[in-house]
Amino acid sequence: MAAMVIVGAGHAAGQAAASLRQEKFEGEIVIIGQEPHIPYQRPPLSKQYLAGEQGIERVYLRPEKFYTKKNITLKLSTRVESIDTEAKTVATDKGETIEYDKLLITTGSRPRILNIPGSDLTGIHYLRTITDVDTIRPEMAAGKKLLIVGGGYIGLEVASVGVSNGLEVHILEMEERILQRVTTPEMSKYYHDLHTARGVHVHTSTMVSGFTGTGRLGGVGRLSGVTCDTGSFEADLAIVGIGIIPNVELAQAAGIACDNGILVDEHCTTSDPNIYAAGDCTNHPNPLLDRRLRLESVPNAMEQARVAATNLCGGDKVYATIPWFWSDQYELKLQMVGFSADGDSQVVRGDKTNDKFAVFYLKEGVLVATDAVNSPKEFMICKRLIGKKVDAAMLADPNADLKSLLT
Ligand SMILES: Cc1cc2nc3c(=O)[nH]c(=O)nc-3n(C[C@H](O)[C@H](O)[C@H](O)COP(=O)(O)OP(=O)(O)OC[C@H]3O[C@@H](n4cnc5c(N)ncnc54)[C@H](O)[C@@H]3O)c2cc1C
Repeated sequence: MAAMVIVGAGHAAGQAAASLRQEKFEGEIVIIGQEPHIPYQRPPLSKQYLAGEQGIERVYLRPEKFYTKKNITLKLSTRVESIDTEAKTVATDKGETIEYDKLLITTGSRPRILNIPGSDLTGIHYLRTITDVDTIRPEMAAGKKLLIVGGGYIGLEVASVGVSNGLEVHILEMEERILQRVTTPEMSKYYHDLHTARGVHVHTSTMVSGFTGTGRLGGVGRLSGVTCDTGSFEADLAIVGIGIIPNVELAQAAGIACDNGILVDEHCTTSDPNIYAAGDCTNHPNPLLDRRLRLESVPNAMEQARVAATNLCGGDKVYATIPWFWSDQYELKLQMVGFSADGDSQVVRGDKTNDKFAVFYLKEGVLVATDAVNSPKEFMICKRLIGKKVDAAMLADPNADLKSLLT
C-alpha cells in the first residue's frame, strides 16, 4: 500500500491528512513536524490564546485521538533534513530515512528577524508558535511597557490584547501608516484611530535602529528600551512582527523549483511530479485572478491542502479560490475578501463610527474586494459576489437586501 509523507505538522498538514482519509486513501500517512505539538491553529496565538481566554485543547486542529483513530502517524519534534527525489525518501534529524510514494511539503513560514544592535537581548520576542506564546504570556503583566515593532495584523492583535490587559503599548511602524502593505489608507486610518482611542500609542514613520538593555555583565542582558530615528522608548518586552519568510530551503536543496515560495501549479504539484506542496510555503497560480500569489492565511492553507489531498489520490482538482482573511481586534471582527488594491472606486455601507460597516471595492462596476467590520452577513454575501457586476447604489443603501444581488 502506498505511503503519503507530509513534511511539516501545521495547519495544511493536519487538513491534508484528514482529507486524504476522506478521499478513502487507506495507505500509510506519516506527518513529520519539527514542533512538539500536534497540528494546531495559529490565529488564536495572537488573539484568544495570548489573552488566556482559550486553552490549548481548543488551539489544536483536531484532538490527538483523531490521528490514532484514522491511523495517521505523527512524528513530532522531528525535522526533515533532506529529500532524495531519486530514491523517494526523506531523512530526518533523528537519523531515520522514510520512504514515500508521494510527498506533500507543508513547511509554512517563519518570522522575518530584525537584525539590529541589541536584538539578542532577552525580552525580545517573535510570535509564531505555541512555545513563543507560552514564553511571552507570563511577561505580559499589567503595568508593563510592551513595544510592538511592526503595525501589521499580528502587531495590532497583540496590541489589542496588551492594552486590554493593562499594559502600556507602543506600536512602532516604519511606514507612513499601519497596515500599509495590506489595506487602503481609509482602513489604515480607521484602525489607527481605533487603537489610539483604546489607549495604544501608534508611532508611524518610525524606524527602529537598536534595542538597549541592562545587566549585560558576562551574559545576555535584558531589554530596557529601543532606539528609533525619531527618539527612544522604554520597554519591558518587545514583540517583533515584521513579516514572514516562506520555508523553501528544504525543497530548494532537493532541486524543486522555488521563486518567492515553492512553485506549484493549480493542482498543487511542484516541479517534481511525486511532490506536492500546500500552504504558506507555496507560490501558486490563481486562475480567478490570473496571477501567481503567495498567501499567508488559514483559508489558503486549508483549501490547498484539500486540493492536494484529492490530487495525491489521483484526482484532478484545481485550486481556484478568491483569497480571504480575518483579524480580531478588541470586540471587532474584520473579514476581508479579494484585493482592495485592484479596485478603482469604493462604496461604504454602514457607519464607521458604530464600528459596523463594510467597504466594497469595485473595478469598472465589478466587485473585486470587500472589507467587512462586524458585518458577517455582508461578508458572506460579498464572497459570492466577487467578480460580478453590482449596483453600487444598492451596496451603499443599508436598507437594500444584498441577498437579492445574488440572484
Ligand atoms: C500569530 C498568528 C496569527 C495568525 N492569524 C491569522 C488569522 O487571523 N487568519 C488567517 O487566515 N491566518 C492567520 N495566520 C496565518 C496562518 O496561521 C498561516 O497562514 C497558517 O498557519 C499556514 O499554515 P501552514 O500549514 O502552511 O504552515 P504552518 O502552520 O506554519 O506549519 C508549518 C509547520 O512546518 C514545520 N516545518 C518547517 N520546516 C520543517 C522541516 N524541515 N521538518 C519538519 N517540520 C518543518 C514548521 O515548524 C511548522 O510547524 C496567523 C499566523 C500567526 C503566526
